[in-house]
Amino acid sequence: MSVSQLKKIDGAPRTDQQTQRKIVIAVDGPAASGKGTLAKMMAQRLGYAYLDTGAIYRAVALATLEMGGDPSNVADVEPALEMIKRNLTPELLANPILRRPEVSEASSKIAVLPQVRISLLEYQRDFAKNPPGDVGGAVLDGRDIGTVVCPQADIKFFVTADPEERAHRRFKELQRQHPELTPEKILYDIILRDQRDSSRKVAPTLAAADAYVLDTTKLSPAEVLDEAIQIARARFLAASDNGI
Ligand code: C5P
Repeated sequence: MSVSQLKKIDGAPRTDQQTQRKIVIAVDGPAASGKGTLAKMMAQRLGYAYLDTGAIYRAVALATLEMGGDPSNVADVEPALEMIKRNLTPELLANPILRRPEVSEASSKIAVLPQVRISLLEYQRDFAKNPPGDVGGAVLDGRDIGTVVCPQADIKFFVTADPEERAHRRFKELQRQHPELTPEKILYDIILRDQRDSSRKVAPTLAAADAYVLDTTKLSPAEVLDEAIQIARARFLAASDNGI
């Protein structure tokens, strides 16, 4: 898509006028890398819709656990999956219960199941194609957005950080509600989840060949956002005097 094809509203790139296609930004990366923070801030800055795809896997995992099921057993996961697909609301995806450590663990187990991944593809692609509200585009964060869900995304980011730094961030986030957790335990869980997510056969965590890799280890969220916006500006608006 060329810059000249983009209509801009409030300075952010908007629907391609010829194809009416919305702009899609993919943000992938491992657990606690800062991808969610970046994706949310980018969506807000650009006035785009935001989808946390990890929260969908988490919602299915939580429903499976609540039904007494085993998250590694597809027969146990399927009823939860169907129920969640009928009730996918922004409120459900923002529920803080989804951040609990046991839900994180269960979500990476259900995410290995090809049936689950295939079943969730359509919702994610629909969101990218027709984001809710009168917006010009969508930002999706996850593990396989740039490689599988939206391989044609206009911009792809792959966000990383050292495991120790990621564990430290997650510890600060969970410390108050989960005083039983230690930084060592969180680091162990993160490494285990990284391994499971990047070694699975279907849609493993992977940087797309055309993704911009952002290492956030030594950067604040605002610095990461600045870097990403600079890349987006260079990508979309190099020929424009109407910056984002
Ligand atoms: O991003 P978050 O850590 O909340 O995701 C929870 C789990 O959901 C991940 O560990 C991963 O197993 C799974 N997931 C996935 N594909 C996505 C998003 C999340 O497999 N696009």
